[in-house]
Amino acid sequence: MPERPLRLATILSHPDDETFGIGGTLIKYTDAGVECHSLSLTQGEAGNNGDPAHPIPRERLGAARAAELAEAGRRMGIASTTCFTYPDGKLAAAPAADVVRDIIRWLRAKRPDVVITWGPDGGYGHPDHVATGPLAMRAVELAGVARHEPDLGEHVHVRRCYQVVAPAEAFDRLREQAPDFAAYMDTLEVKPRRWTREELGAVIDISAVADRKWNAMKAHRSQQQDLDRLERLRGTIGFVEREETFIRAFPDPGGPPLETDLFAGVKR
Ligand SMILES: [Zn+2]
Repeated sequence: MPERPLRLATILSHPDDETFGIGGTLIKYTDAGVECHSLSLTQGEAGNNGDPAHPIPRERLGAARAAELAEAGRRMGIASTTCFTYPDGKLAAAPAADVVRDIIRWLRAKRPDVVITWGPDGGYGHPDHVATGPLAMRAVELAGVARHEPDLGEHVHVRRCYQVVAPAEAFDRLREQAPDFAAYMDTLEVKPRRWTREELGAVIDISAVADRKWNAMKAHRSQQQDLDRLERLRGTIGFVEREETFIRAFPDPGGPPLETDLFAGVKR
């Protein structure tokens, strides 16, 4: 009997978070034979709705963005993409117990070894991202407790959990290169923490797969405005084509030592 493949799961907020934020990491692991599953807690129905000349009607945007994620997932080699339908932009107001319960059911079905979610500052302070990290971490914990809601599936022990963060220098570049986005960030309640290299738990070099990440990003056609902005940032901001950065939630929170493999210590 062949051993089952290693599994990686992402629990993020919007249908483009995994592609834009950590698409290079996902491509590297799917290339290596890791089975990857992506969960977005919303369908992103409050986001950009495409080309201003031919906007996607708002009532169809959620379904359209879920379909874009499915296509991006195919381009990245992801085994499954799932979008829950919690309200985009108002995730923090959704009943937490319901969200956690739905995530537990999903985790117990997908049975990942390693989970990635948003960091405590939600990457750049987006309120849905900020809300997602704690909901995901709670679900990861309870999914592993056998007596907790056995009706949701057989309990599963996630072995490692990482949180997506952006290093301080990325925001310095962003402020220079995309003042419009910096101005938007300034309106958000939570400000991104200035993560130093010493505080990071893992850095994944994505330079070898950057073109494929970009190809997957282009599947998110409704987000053309973001794609145009990121196109201008190519070469200046690490996550676009150089590296994707994480802190480690467990085991051994934070760093050092700095890892270059999210499955360090998990591989058999
Ligand atoms: Zn997002």
